[in-house]
Amino acid sequence: AKETGGARIQYFAPGQRRELVRRMALEHQLHRAIEREELFLQYQPKIDLQGGSLAGFEALLRWRHPTHGVVSPEEFVPIAEENGLIVPIGDWLVRTAIKQMASWHAAGLPEIPVAVNLSARQFLQGDVVGLVDEMLREAKIAPHLLELELTESLSMADPERSLAIMRELRALGVTLSIDDFGTGYSSFAYLKRLPIDKLKIDKSFVNDMVHSSDARAIVQAIVAMAHSMHLRVVAEGVESAPQALALRETGCDQAQGYYYSRPLDAREAGSFLAPGPAS
Ligand code: C2E
Ligand code: CA
Ligand code: CA
Ligand code: CA
Repeated sequence: AKETGGARIQYFAPGQRRELVRRMALEHQLHRAIEREELFLQYQPKIDLQGGSLAGFEALLRWRHPTHGVVSPEEFVPIAEENGLIVPIGDWLVRTAIKQMASWHAAGLPEIPVAVNLSARQFLQGDVVGLVDEMLREAKIAPHLLELELTESLSMADPERSLAIMRELRALGVTLSIDDFGTGYSSFAYLKRLPIDKLKIDKSFVNDMVHSSDARAIVQAIVAMAHSMHLRVVAEGVESAPQALALRETGCDQAQGYYYSRPLDAREAGSFLAPGPAS
């Protein structure tokens, strides 16, 4: 802000201004992204740490913007959360992931769990239970193969309602997982109240494991506590062999990260699923 002869003029630095303009444009264009078929999913493999086989995929949302190229979900998911578009986008992604599972199955590929990320707003405002139930029936997919990754912040927004929805989803047979564990406020005392099956350790811990014995001890403790509560544990963001080894030593069940594979397009993920040597 600058004073000019008494009048107060607000202006932005060029960088800030550019950012604001981009954000406003993205927000505007996001409204039509679904119908223009600009959204798509990539699938990142999760590996069974003890046995080494493919354990599942995590579906990750992408937006192929007509002029900006592929925009990161880290940029547009918060915008969609704010303006409510996350509800139709979330519906689209649940449908798309389940249809993809059905089409892999129809192609004779092995059945594999697929995880979908649900934002707080979709969870609380949309009809997730109805949607998931309808889609699983329609596609004839076994409910346990659909995994929903929820963040801790979700249950902070409306704890009672979140808990009720989680129980309904669990009753459908869907697998529930807490994402980014360790970055929020949740404690094991709190987790104990939730009807969940899995815990996903945030990549920041995995990152520090090789160099920090404290980080190793923390991961070890998380895995032991989770197992005592009959939760399976997944580690995300595994980028190197030493990290994978350190994780395996903690007894962690599954791992995901660039060390194993980057997120893949549906077609590439399909070939990853196909038995026999990759070509
Ligand atoms: P997230 O759920 O924690 O997803 C993991 C992120 O880590 C993904 O980023 C993935 O590509 C990235 N990643 C995987 N392996 C590695 C690795 O070895 N090293 C590093 N540094 N990163 C790795 P992405 O796809 O950019 O997604 C970022 C975030 O955007 C996600 O974090 C999630 O919070 C959100 N997001 C992505 N897809 C969806 C979606 O379909 N719905 C909602 N609500 N949020 C989504
Ligand atoms: Ca996730
Ligand atoms: Ca995560
Ligand atoms: Ca994350």
